[in-house]
Amino acid sequence: MSSQKAVIIGAGPAGLGAALALARMGVSVTVIEKEAEIGVNRRGETIRFHQGMEDRLYKGFFEEQTIHRINQRTYYSHTGKKKADRQISTWNLIIEYPRFVQALASVAEKAGAQIVKSAPVDRYIKDGDRVSAVVANGKEFAADIFFATAGHHDPSLDIGKRALSRIDIPIRKYLVKNYAGRDTHLEYFFHVDERYPAIAAIFPRGKGEAEVLYMFLTDSAAKKAASTNIPGTRGASGREHDKLDFQYIASIIDDFENIHPVFGEKLTGAKRYYETNTLIPMGDIGSDILPAPNLVLAGDAVGQVEARGGSGIRSSFMMGQISAQAAVDTLLRENFSSQAQSAFKKKVLDSEQMHELKDLNLKFGIPRRLFFSTVTSPSAMDTFWFALEFFMR
Ligand SMILES: Cc1cc2nc3c(=O)[nH]c(=O)nc-3n(C[C@H](O)[C@H](O)[C@H](O)COP(=O)(O)OP(=O)(O)OC[C@H]3O[C@@H](n4cnc5c(N)ncnc54)[C@H](O)[C@@H]3O)c2cc1C
Repeated sequence: MSSQKAVIIGAGPAGLGAALALARMGVSVTVIEKEAEIGVNRRGETIRFHQGMEDRLYKGFFEEQTIHRINQRTYYSHTGKKKADRQISTWNLIIEYPRFVQALASVAEKAGAQIVKSAPVDRYIKDGDRVSAVVANGKEFAADIFFATAGHHDPSLDIGKRALSRIDIPIRKYLVKNYAGRDTHLEYFFHVDERYPAIAAIFPRGKGEAEVLYMFLTDSAAKKAASTNIPGTRGASGREHDKLDFQYIASIIDDFENIHPVFGEKLTGAKRYYETNTLIPMGDIGSDILPAPNLVLAGDAVGQVEARGGSGIRSSFMMGQISAQAAVDTLLRENFSSQAQSAFKKKVLDSEQMHELKDLNLKFGIPRRLFFSTVTSPSAMDTFWFALEFFMR
């Protein structure tokens, strides 16, 4: 494969997973990352151990990256009256996101991948139905095959004409310092507002720090928020979810800190350290994984995140690996023929990882979504608490 060239757009878990696999198979790999540093757009701080991922990195990788471990969760209802404790069978590992992704990058670089930073890809050049190059900072990067792994804003999505309907979770997350709650539990607090169903959670990280997460649930909730006439809303860009005004939503959920009897108290005196907000895809495949014969999509770009918490990073990395392996075995080996394209899709979609994703989505994601679309008030949340105890596992 030494004469074959691959360009990967985005040095997140999916792109680095693909880069590592390709480099090890002898493909010449260039990863193009828009940021000056890897992992600066912080995502989650929680990951569950995954043997397959560690096997592809090195023994002890997860151990090295772990700041803190958690194996219990406490869920509180909106009123604080209902509460459920749960044991987590696989430890939740609390990580420092930038450090974790930088460690992935360093394994990929050692295997031979080259990473170009400060290079936002803003254009794809096509030759017939194939992509011949991508452009970043006015410079063309040509290759035989391209991996679009730039997350849910991946510029290739215009080529794939993806429907955004499955990307349904506007999420806001921030890390606080001086967290005053217990540090051995993940603590969830549910709040349902008539217009904006939301969930908030505290993820203790140890050392007096905690990550606080707020997110809105269900497509219909997002649509409601998007269609409400809110003064100052950022206007339409054509896609309904883009109409959501995070600032306005944030002001509503900030109030939540004062409303919730347990939540506000635990955060008293805590300092914001970083925050981020975005829309994330949850569960299943939302777009074509091969929108052009030599353009592979993986990770959040296809909306394949597992429907359970702590799994987006590992499932994106694994998807990058699986797609790269399948691309070498089919597309690159058989010069992107139509048979090779079908074989590629079959290999990826039939992989154990994809089946696992689909099963989890069926078991948890879909019922969870259905459940939250029925809850319309805080008291309804308490009434349905028994169902939540089950679905939020
Ligand atoms: C707020 C938030 C919290 C989350 N919490 C968790 C959690 O606790 N645990 C968990 O496992 N998962 C979590 N997830 C999900 C997880 O982070 C994602 O599933 C995972 O990061 C997806 O990996 P990816 O490589 O597909 O995309 P990303 O991680 O989004 O990586 C995309 C990369 O591409 C780069 N890029 C983007 N556009 C361009 C461009 N035009 N040109 C070049 N480069 C570009 C970006 O800078 C980035 O480095 C969270 C996600 C979000 C948004």
